[in-house]
Amino acid sequence: MIAASERSVRYLEALNQRRVAPTAEAVDRLGELGGPLPDEPTDPKRVLAFLDDIGSPATVASAGGRYFGFVIGGALPATVAANWLAGAWEQNAGLIATSPVAAALEGIALQWLVDVLPLPSEAGGGFVTGATMANFTALAAARHVLLRRQGWDVEAQGLFGAPPLTVVVGQEVHVSVLKALSLLGLGHKRVVQVPVDGQGRMRADAFPELSDSTIVCIQAGNVNSGAFDPAEEVCTTAHEAGAWVHVDGAFGLWAAAAPERAYLTAGIEKADSWATDAHKWLNVPYDSGLVFCRNPAYLRAAMSTQAAYLIQEERREPYQYTPEMSRRARGIEVWAALRSLGRSGLADLIERMCRHASRFAEGLQAGGYDVLNDVLLNQVLVSFGDAETTRRVIAGVQADGTCWCGGTTWQGHTAMRISVSSWATTQDDVEQSLAAILRVAKEQGST
Ligand SMILES: *Cc1c(COP(=O)(O)O)cnc(C)c1O
Repeated sequence: MIAASERSVRYLEALNQRRVAPTAEAVDRLGELGGPLPDEPTDPKRVLAFLDDIGSPATVASAGGRYFGFVIGGALPATVAANWLAGAWEQNAGLIATSPVAAALEGIALQWLVDVLPLPSEAGGGFVTGATMANFTALAAARHVLLRRQGWDVEAQGLFGAPPLTVVVGQEVHVSVLKALSLLGLGHKRVVQVPVDGQGRMRADAFPELSDSTIVCIQAGNVNSGAFDPAEEVCTTAHEAGAWVHVDGAFGLWAAAAPERAYLTAGIEKADSWATDAHKWLNVPYDSGLVFCRNPAYLRAAMSTQAAYLIQEERREPYQYTPEMSRRARGIEVWAALRSLGRSGLADLIERMCRHASRFAEGLQAGGYDVLNDVLLNQVLVSFGDAETTRRVIAGVQADGTCWCGGTTWQGHTAMRISVSSWATTQDDVEQSLAAILRVAKEQGST
């Protein structure tokens, strides 16, 4: 155990001096972890040494300060420490009986989250693996409510013969919402897509007719541009029609915790359900997502199971709000993140990442490159000329190793995407990365 902590600390301390992407040689060596399963046991110390000596160099340095791919996030020191302790605790977070401490920490963290995000005070929630499962869980609650209103018990009867529901999404809907709809039998091709504007926001003036059998899925934080759908208008219109509004706020929901960015989330608290990630912007270890429902009873109705040996009381039993029964106690790290940051630390964390993104945008524009989105949050989309050139620059940046950025297509344009999502990113990391990107862009013949 001590060896593990020593090796972990050494790994983290060296992280900012190494290339962000692993070398091809390091990845090739992973084969050494395989071979036929040995007949005899191996000393745990040797197992750990294998993992560290061969595994560590093949990691992506996304826990460091210069990883800007996808929307990833690092892990705050307090949360890594809490994760180690939680690993030693080895709690099953499904029931209060299996872990009073996990249940208590979850309850406290949920209250703090409702306060800081902020969501309606009556909202309840559950701890899931990520925003994909959070979308799934919330949409299961929506499906339950809308069908029950029509006298259909979907949990008991399934969807064969059920009254149809309509799901409305933006053209820029995140694929995880579509996946959740597939899993729920609502079908990702049956959706009605609302056109979007130049930032990827649903156009409130282009909504179809809504009814009390409609689920509207809006987005807080587009995975490319960081843009927010117009929650205020959508919630008002949808609720007049009796529709359900679900918010996919995987990272964008956290903007509300930073006073200078909170305006972006206006109206979001009027929705009926929310999905977000803790492993992105809150910077806790994987895997950690959160689902919230204005009326927690709906979540429970969609998720709870009944068995004679399971406890059914009035108290909040964690398993009643999530698809899983046995699971790790991921509320521990969420609690540790919030407790270590405090309200002001969380605001500072979010604000800092947004400022870093603005600095990237400013530096790239000064270098003569096109920033394709309004940089109001943590996301920057930059083009280095035509698609081919931009792709060459992205590959060059990844090979250079100073930082790591991915590519995307934004409204027909090939772009490099910079997502500033880690607590570990410093101003110096931003300057180093910017210099590397500009240097690579020049080398690749982009003007
Ligand atoms: C990342 C993301 C998701 C999916 O989250 P996971 O944690 O990977 O399941 C969903 N929606 C948006 C907007 C995202 O950025």
